Amino acid sequence: MNKKIAVIKGDGIGPEIVSEAVKVLDKAAEKYAHTFEYTQLLMGGCSIDVNGVPLTDETIAACKASDAVLMGSIGGDTTTSPWYKLPANLRPEAGLLKIRKELGLFANLRPCLLYPQLSGACPLKEEISSNGFDMLIMRELTGGLYFGERRTEEVDGVMTAVDTLSYNENEIRRIAIKAFEVAMKRSKKVTSVDKANVLDSSRLWRKVVTEVAADYPEVTLEHMLVDNTAMQLVKNPAQFDVMVTENMFGDILSDEASMITGSIGMLPSASMNETKFGLYEPSGGSAPDIAGQNKANPIATILSAAMMLRYSFDMTDEADAVDAAVKQTLNDGFRTGDIMSDGCKMVSCSEMGDLICERI
Ligand code: NAD
Repeated sequence: MNKKIAVIKGDGIGPEIVSEAVKVLDKAAEKYAHTFEYTQLLMGGCSIDVNGVPLTDETIAACKASDAVLMGSIGGDTTTSPWYKLPANLRPEAGLLKIRKELGLFANLRPCLLYPQLSGACPLKEEISSNGFDMLIMRELTGGLYFGERRTEEVDGVMTAVDTLSYNENEIRRIAIKAFEVAMKRSKKVTSVDKANVLDSSRLWRKVVTEVAADYPEVTLEHMLVDNTAMQLVKNPAQFDVMVTENMFGDILSDEASMITGSIGMLPSASMNETKFGLYEPSGGSAPDIAGQNKANPIATILSAAMMLRYSFDMTDEADAVDAAVKQTLNDGFRTGDIMSDGCKMVSCSEMGDLICERI
């Protein structure tokens, strides 16, 4: 297969971690006889330096002309970088919000997997973490409370603030379909999280998700209230496969889930639209404290590239091979500084990329 990949290395550790992910993609392409064509694009601080804005229309057009986007991270040290003296709409992060909107990326996918080799970094009790867990949180990204009407005004002499949580059935249906499609490629279980005992928007959410489930008889659907889900995540995280939820619940639950995996350098993510198009990036930021030192952990970006193979290109064997190579490299005792533990061998960012390539 021939695929076009837009590559946004970004700022800080971005160029280092993306180079390793591209190395891994090239190795997978060689092994499975594919051709990946890369278009290098600027976004974030590096685009401000060259173009005066964090994201140009040309970059958006080039992303749209590609089959998927691989991104590093953007932004600099928010206290010392001159980028943060600019107005908010010209700062590096403004590019992130704009690209998500322009590309119609409404579904955010965050796998949270506890590698047995790293279970020491999990803050849960050993009797819970020793079971391991492997879940994917799918968060609706463009609707709900964060995008509803809001206002602050004085009502009868009292300052009053109002935020609105609104979803229509089409917004719910498209993310529910995405969740079931992803579950079909995993362990075929969907947990839909809502607050249907209180909120109208959650009652509609539950109704539409249940309707969509009828088209996926192989997938088990369960509904769970958000407060219970927050408890279950720390009590028995192994029960979850795909969890689908609205924007604000997903914001909170995905951070809770990422904490119990232990390391930010291990967490991939994807944002997708209605087609197979997606933007793939590590969950962490640009880590200005270690940028340019070949110290960063490239695994989150490499796993994001594996998600691209799986969800945008339908290359399941290739994605499995990358995931397995990461596990094998950890099994063999290699670690970057952020996940280092006694008895392991510390390697650089580029060495980690090489070791993973050797195991594909
Ligand atoms: P950060 O994630 O960049 O760093 C937090 C800590 O985690 C640091 O100690 C860093 O060294 C470490 N870390 C992060 N990724 C790592 C990796 N791959 N390997 C090893 N260690 C890693 O968060 P921050 O310091 O709050 O933000 C720094 C900059 O990144 C800011 O400008 C912020 O706006 C930006 N940011 C960008 C994105 C994105 O591009 N999507 C996301 C979050 C933050």
